[in-house]
Amino acid sequence: KIVVVGSLNMDLVTNTKNMPKIGETIVGDSFRQIPGGKGANQAVAIARLGGAVGMIGKVGDDSFGETLRNALMHDNVDTKYVFKENDCSTGVAAITVDSQANNAIIVIPGANFKITKEDIDHSLDMIHGAETIVTQLEVPIDVVHYSLLKAKEAGKYTILNPAPAQYLEDEIIGNVDLLIPNETELEILAGMEIKNEEDILAAARKLMAKGVKQLIVTLGEKGSIYLAEQGVQRFKAYKVKAVDTTAAGDSFVGALAVALSNKLEMTQAIDFASKVGALTVTKFGAQSSLPFKDDITHFEGD
Ligand code: ADP
Repeated sequence: KIVVVGSLNMDLVTNTKNMPKIGETIVGDSFRQIPGGKGANQAVAIARLGGAVGMIGKVGDDSFGETLRNALMHDNVDTKYVFKENDCSTGVAAITVDSQANNAIIVIPGANFKITKEDIDHSLDMIHGAETIVTQLEVPIDVVHYSLLKAKEAGKYTILNPAPAQYLEDEIIGNVDLLIPNETELEILAGMEIKNEEDILAAARKLMAKGVKQLIVTLGEKGSIYLAEQGVQRFKAYKVKAVDTTAAGDSFVGALAVALSNKLEMTQAIDFASKVGALTVTKFGAQSSLPFKDDITHFEGD
């Protein structure tokens, strides 16, 4: 079993030909509500790929909270520890996309920032019953740290996707078995500018010196790089027609967690996750774009 500690957001997506200017009112083209949030996306990705998964997180006392909880349940994610905060809004992302695919986004963390260490203490039976714990940085950093600590105390395998990009204390990084940053996140974590592949390797090694055992740097359509004590390995991305890259990283992380818990070798697990990431960019939105196990079986990628 896998446990995801993280965020739940409702994505409110407006499509419009042009972005409105300050003070302007315009008529747009379409509007959709799509369940999102990095934590929930990763949990749903895991469930759709056949993994047993529970989510630890928090929503507000509004209709979005109910909708997000129901969406997770519909995808067979255990929501026993999706807590509810009273007098608080559920996390939302107000996303505007223009006809050139430029976007402007405001995220309101809401209840995601109200989850506490005490909530983690209340959820310990779920952590203890799992073999892998997956987390990101859309909930308070002390909760991320505490979850990793409790997971490591219980001998679990810990995966951190350090998104959105943020600097982390060595103490936190030291509790991570597998770190999965993209290039921007790696740059901020390592505190150095990255211009080429040599810089990526140098930055990754800097983090490994702080106790991370394995590291995968994702590079969008350029694929990914895996680093461990044994060495470095490069993985290509599968060629697809990209429609919307939202949740590519989330589906990659979820897929990797599933593959590793199914005891696949790391190289096979990364190949599987690359297929999942590629398929995700062929569809619009966050949870609306996450593929199912059968989609991967039938994917003949190049
Ligand atoms: P993030 O969304 O966190 O920035 P990436 O964009 O690096 O993450 O995507 C994660 C993985 O998904 C990549 O390593 C790659 O395997 C796959 N992926 C992402 N974008 C594409 C794309 N345009 N074409 C094919 N695969 C992609």
